[in-house]
Amino acid sequence: MNDNLKISKIKKLSSLIKNASYTVVFTGAGMSSESGIPPFRGAQGLWNYYDPIEASSIEGFYNNPNVFWAFIRDLLKKGEVKPHLGHFVLAELEAAGFIKTVITQNIDLLHQEAGSKNVLPIHGSLEKATCLDCGDSVLWSSLFPEVMEQIPVCKKCSSAFVKPDIVFFGEALPQKLLATSVAEAQKADLFIVIGSSLEVYPAAQIPYLAKQSNASLVLLNLESTALDRIFDLCIYGRCGENLTRLKQVLSEGEKF
Ligand code: NAD
Ligand code: ZN
Repeated sequence: MNDNLKISKIKKLSSLIKNASYTVVFTGAGMSSESGIPPFRGAQGLWNYYDPIEASSIEGFYNNPNVFWAFIRDLLKKGEVKPHLGHFVLAELEAAGFIKTVITQNIDLLHQEAGSKNVLPIHGSLEKATCLDCGDSVLWSSLFPEVMEQIPVCKKCSSAFVKPDIVFFGEALPQKLLATSVAEAQKADLFIVIGSSLEVYPAAQIPYLAKQSNASLVLLNLESTALDRIFDLCIYGRCGENLTRLKQVLSEGEKF
């Protein structure tokens, strides 16, 4: 996409945001890639190194939790990942009243770390972990940073099956969060998808639901997706760069 076209599209997005009364953002793994978190698929994808069932299914976890924890350490680069400028722009837009909610498929807590308040992590998040044997629930911050070196053991019952509250293969999405996300999408008059291939269901249905409720749909993604045709505006490229440009355009002539 040439630079002039991109700028004109970002200006269009800026005016959509200014004129919208309820903007909801929906993010996927691509949102975190500029923070250094590898995707699952593609040339650098983690599924080239891990078997998804061994690393990220409930059966695999019971079979050997070490594989899951090695996978999480790779995903989080041993805990060194930080939000990038794009995460901060979204948090600033929320604080300024331009964004109501961020629905995210990401488990990495980077939106929350950047300051976004109303975040709906539909695939769960690393915020808490639960012992699968005794049910004790602990904060991720109480496991971190030790968990980057060794697998956590339950303080109450010594079980090795302390599982973060994220959705594994073979598990249902948290129904309340999903219902709230659907309600937010249906309330939106502007719905912005960032960094998602829109191939993982049922999450990928959410933009459809926003569209059915007459929201304008905008895509910010590195490349085209299978669902580009349902979007009113597609802006390709790195989301961190495009969100930084969006902030510049939005704040031209006025402080937002
Ligand atoms: P996906 O991997 O299927 O698609 C990511 C999309 O992001 C791709 O279309 C890619 O072109 C795009 N992308 C890559 N870099 C980008 C960038 N810098 N800017 C903009 N777009 C960029 O991701 P998905 O749709 O979220 O589905 C993957 C599943 O894996 C989800 O269920 C998610 O929960 C999980 N996941 C989470 C994390 C995380 O928590 N950070 C990381 C990997 C996977
Ligand atoms: Zn326990």
